[in-house]
Amino acid sequence: MKKYVYCFDSQGTEGNAKMRNLLGGKGANLAEMNRIGIPVPPGFTISTAACVEYFKLNNKLPYGLMNQVQEGILRIEKNMARKLGDYKNPLLVSVRSGARISMPGMMDTVLNLGLNDKSVIGLAKETENPRFAYDSYRRFIQMFGNVVFGINGVHFEKALDKKKEETGSAYDTDLTAEDLKNLVERFKQIFKEQSNKAFPQDAWEQLTDAIMAVFRSWNTKRAADYRRVNKISDDWGTAVNIVTMVFGNMGDDSATGVAFTRDPATGEKRFFGEFLKNAQGEDVVAGIRTPQPISKAGRSSEDQITLEEELPEAYKDLEAIYKKLEKHYRDMQDMEFTIQKGKLWMLQTRTGKRTAMAAIRIAVDMVEEDLITREEAIMRVEPDKLDQLLHERFDPKAKKRLFGVGINASPGAASGVIALDPDKAVTWAKEGKSVILVRTETSPDDFHGMVAAKGILTSRGGSTSHAAVVARGIGKPCIAGAEKIEIDYSNHLVVSNGITLKEGDEISIDGSVGEIYVGSVLTGSSEITAVILGQMKPEEASMYSYYDKLMTWADDVRRLGIRTNSDTPHDSWTARKFGAEGIGLCRTEHMFFEGDRILAVREMIFASDPEGRKKALDKIRPMQQKDFEDIFKEMEGLPVTIRLLDPPLHEFLPHTNEEYEELSKRIGIPVEELMRRGQQLKEVNPMLGHRGCRLGVVHPEITEMQSRAIFTAAANLIKKGVKVIPEVMVPLVGLKAELDDQEQIIRRVAEEIQRETNIPFEYKVGTMIEVPRAALMADKIAETAEFFSFGTNDLTQMTFGMSRDDAGKFLPLYVERGFCRVDPFQSIDRDGVGQLMGIGVEKGRKTRPELKIGICGEHGGNPQSIEFCDELNLDYVSCSPYRVPIARLAAAQAKLKHQK
Ligand code: PEP
Ligand code: MG
Repeated sequence: MKKYVYCFDSQGTEGNAKMRNLLGGKGANLAEMNRIGIPVPPGFTISTAACVEYFKLNNKLPYGLMNQVQEGILRIEKNMARKLGDYKNPLLVSVRSGARISMPGMMDTVLNLGLNDKSVIGLAKETENPRFAYDSYRRFIQMFGNVVFGINGVHFEKALDKKKEETGSAYDTDLTAEDLKNLVERFKQIFKEQSNKAFPQDAWEQLTDAIMAVFRSWNTKRAADYRRVNKISDDWGTAVNIVTMVFGNMGDDSATGVAFTRDPATGEKRFFGEFLKNAQGEDVVAGIRTPQPISKAGRSSEDQITLEEELPEAYKDLEAIYKKLEKHYRDMQDMEFTIQKGKLWMLQTRTGKRTAMAAIRIAVDMVEEDLITREEAIMRVEPDKLDQLLHERFDPKAKKRLFGVGINASPGAASGVIALDPDKAVTWAKEGKSVILVRTETSPDDFHGMVAAKGILTSRGGSTSHAAVVARGIGKPCIAGAEKIEIDYSNHLVVSNGITLKEGDEISIDGSVGEIYVGSVLTGSSEITAVILGQMKPEEASMYSYYDKLMTWADDVRRLGIRTNSDTPHDSWTARKFGAEGIGLCRTEHMFFEGDRILAVREMIFASDPEGRKKALDKIRPMQQKDFEDIFKEMEGLPVTIRLLDPPLHEFLPHTNEEYEELSKRIGIPVEELMRRGQQLKEVNPMLGHRGCRLGVVHPEITEMQSRAIFTAAANLIKKGVKVIPEVMVPLVGLKAELDDQEQIIRRVAEEIQRETNIPFEYKVGTMIEVPRAALMADKIAETAEFFSFGTNDLTQMTFGMSRDDAGKFLPLYVERGFCRVDPFQSIDRDGVGQLMGIGVEKGRKTRPELKIGICGEHGGNPQSIEFCDELNLDYVSCSPYRVPIARLAAAQAKLKHQK
């Protein structure tokens, strides 16, 4: 029979940390902790394979599973000298989900399972605390009802409120054992009303139902949404962990909490966490009560109580355990613990989620502590997350009006309109608004709103609340526990500091310091960016040295070159500061729009013969030449790939009657005639029309002018001693003849200029590979081309036959329904577009082994695509300036992965 159940207890451990695919992260780590002698309550894990099988069998438990569960329970019963559902010594268990990759709060959990009308008496007697026993029972009925039968918690909450009213109790804790006993009866009634079924007294029935419900929670909408955003496969399923209950709510010598071995927001090496005294399970994470710091060092005000002072023995044990765990796992851990009557139990450990800043700092520190290697450090920072560090922070000089303060739960700065519910956040974000989601606290049901928002603000909860954990995971700024802020959902108001804001008003949050401001605050570049761009001294920015070290290690490792897409001297300068090693794509069309150049360009378009066009082009040439000189200067000594004009000419036409009139005066052609000619230039399908090299073929004087500008700029600078390496790139080639035609013009002009100036220079002529036919004919094209650059924007568009400008209408649905795993315009479609690239590389290099090959579509800055480019053995990737560091890191990771 297939093995589904893996036990861990004092008799032994059947799993270990390496088995996370089978046991889920939680299960594998519970086993591992037990194996290395850390106190874990006895239990077992039902494998993810059982869950997958359950769905395959159309929501039926696989054969033999419950027999193994029975054996597992028997083992716990023996171990604990208790019995499930027993009258005297009842065993209570928790039934928790746990996927391969942690999906915080997305799936279901049932606590206190095993309580019924009999065992509750046993629990009351044993603990000499009937109040506790009945409180646990009513919680169980509610949780079981909710998770297994989908009964809305509101029904139970209302009954609880009514009971408090009847008894004149202000808090839940004021209710007596007798009150709670009555409440249990009422809860059972509610259960029956809502589910048409009596609350099951048989603990086995409870257990079977709970296991199935946890399996099913893999497929709830919120879990599926979370997987989509985090690119987690739908096929993995969840494990189920069945663990002996320990109680953090057994009195003042009991507590529950979460802790991180290092600070997950900043990465600072300090033990960090929060706890609640006399509380159970999810209370800390749910953000219902604001938890207290565990250590004196982590206190932000003197009146906070700490675990270190309250329960010093347990705290000491926890300290020893966190050190052991971090050393064992060689990474920052996020742990859950419970203290029952002074005894510490570990309920979970996992690799802690962290901000980009923390990821870098922890990785670098751990190398210096000899815990991990440089290669491991490189692999530990998600390249995309660097965005968080390189982008916005509030301009320190901007005027701000303080609205409130809270806990700095996830760094970064954001301004936007207040949305008080997640659906509204999504709607407004779709309308293009920047939104701050403001809630008293968040729950997994708010996830879609958090993803849509630019930042998250909650009035309750701490650094480990749902809001904080999720925000850090998705890289959004978050302030939690801003307790002085009152949120009035029914009147759509947020009040604080004597100021009343309406939903839809603008607000700003600084998740790095925990401050909230009224209105929109100007943002400036991040500290690291400020140092990189020379606006701040390295020693003033605490994070810079960590960043710099990691990037240097990455550069030592990577094979791929990193270039940038840049059309201006300023962007070229920025990119170079970020570490670009050349320009992979300089789009020249942008240069045509600047200032009054557009008038000369229009003159060229409307000229009736080549002579007229040439005259107009002669006006543009010196301006282009100056642009190229400036860019060459910025990129001194590095290769610069300049692409000849690409867009169809109609993009340069006048838009308004006034513009037509202005042009008419300038070139002496009547407005009506101009409009008629303009009309003729309009195309039915311009993306597949007269663009790219097709322009240069029909109007060779354009290629001639651009080549002249490029080579004259190069000659001028070489004369001044500047090293220039121009590479002229022909766009949208599909036929070798097209490239040959253009190459002949380019080379002729290059020779003419060398002759005229008497200055020899090196240059290259190459092409973009962005039409599928070019990839297929790469061997022929490489006879002429000295380099290739994959234009994967067009290549994707043309391979899929999907307009890159219109795909937004249907592609998101394709991704949602799993037709495509990801948007192919963001991450290369390896199967299709990737295959064409592979053919292009192979055929091109067959003809010309030294052929230099790069990529300059948007994919050049996408880590997954960069990994693919490394596999294809490209020479470089090219991306926008701010993505250069991301590409450097991603290229290093790709190399390390491929080395394995
Ligand atoms: C491309 O097609 O990938 C490319 C870089 O060119 P453009 O985006 O300018 O069409
Ligand atoms: Mg293109």
